[in-house]
Amino acid sequence: MDTEFADVIGHDVTTITCVCGNTVSKEGLIQANSQGVPVYAEVGTPVPAGLAPWPEDEDLYTLCPSCGRVYHDTVIEETGTAPVAFQIDVAEGPIAEAIRVHWELGT
Ligand SMILES: [Zn+2]
Repeated sequence: MDTEFADVIGHDVTTITCVCGNTVSKEGLIQANSQGVPVYAEVGTPVPAGLAPWPEDEDLYTLCPSCGRVYHDTVIEETGTAPVAFQIDVAEGPIAEAIRVHWELGT
């Protein structure tokens, strides 16, 4: 299968238009770790159940909570393109729960 690309403007991960059409201003995009698990952005407070801690190496990914496609922030920042790194199941299971926790926290 050919690699899919999201639209992105000026190497800025927050400008992604996902392959599915989702953007930050529609359903939102979530910062995630290398497994696609949403990360908890607050440092120095306990990580809520279901979320992943902020990666120590700052190697972040961007998860589309609408379709489960995940993009690698480093690739976007370095190349100005946004190939789909991988896709995960966001409809059920631990990722769905993590997304719910993420939105509840409003971060
Ligand atoms: Zn998407």
